[in-house]
Amino acid sequence: MSMESLEDLFLDQLKDVFNAEKQLSKALPKLAKAAESEDLREALNSHLEETMEQIERLEKVFKSIDKPARGKTCKAMEGLVEEGSELLEEGETSAVLDAGLICASQKVEHYEIATYGTLITWAEILGYKKAIPLLQATLDEEKAADEKLTELASSLNFEAAEEAK
Ligand code: FE
Ligand code: FE
Ligand code: ZN
Ligand code: FE
Repeated sequence: MSMESLEDLFLDQLKDVFNAEKQLSKALPKLAKAAESEDLREALNSHLEETMEQIERLEKVFKSIDKPARGKTCKAMEGLVEEGSELLEEGETSAVLDAGLICASQKVEHYEIATYGTLITWAEILGYKKAIPLLQATLDEEKAADEKLTELASSLNFEAAEEAK
């Protein structure tokens, strides 16, 4: 697509994050299943539920600007998911794996936070008034998910450090 205007750029990034969320909705169940900590598993599963709602919210954002809800492969998310999946290759749960899962998940959240933050700023400039609260609701969830992971890391990282000593 030609990228001649901020409108084009907004649509391009909207498609990117739409695809990114869909990738995540497939990856999160696998990451959650691999978690040894019940708290971490619950956090990842509850973020999966939020992710499904985020996909629906993005469909509303597309609608609000009269565009079809279509994704465009987010290569960054492919890479982030791939790195997270590498952790699962051993197939065993452990505190060390949990620490790795938190790391991979926080990279994902930060990537999403960057995209939604930018989209909100552009929506404000472009006067996409209906899109702003939808994008903001998701940004708030991404930030809360990131904070929850930081909280879990504060104990799980120490369990990881004690493992196999
Ligand atoms: Fe998300
Ligand atoms: Fe992306
Ligand atoms: Zn991308
Ligand atoms: Fe997220």
